[in-house]
Amino acid sequence: MSAIDTNRFREALLEERQRVLGAIENLHEENSGSLTDLSGEETAFDNHLGDTATETYERELDYTLEENSEHVLGEIDAALKRIEDETYGICTNCGRPIPEERLEARPWATLCIDCQRERERR
Ligand SMILES: [Zn+2]
Repeated sequence: MSAIDTNRFREALLEERQRVLGAIENLHEENSGSLTDLSGEETAFDNHLGDTATETYERELDYTLEENSEHVLGEIDAALKRIEDETYGICTNCGRPIPEERLEARPWATLCIDCQRERERR
């Protein structure tokens, strides 16, 4: 028997999943919007060198954000699957229970704090 109330964490995960999906959608909309603007614009580029540089920089930031969001989305889906499998809240490295306060901060955590620290040191 698990001492963890997985229902509560399932709800937190589903809520977070919605939030991340919304963020990804926003990023897609912003990206496709600026692409349309660029192709429709026929003014000479030399006048806008500064703007172009800034735009490229911002788009790169968006992509990084998007990658992170999709990464988190994958972790959330994996955590939901672990709830189904009744392995949720157990460290995937050492098999010990992950402290509940850690799960509250990161409901998709797969490692206990000790194993996480160990991994980050490598
Ligand atoms: Zn561990």
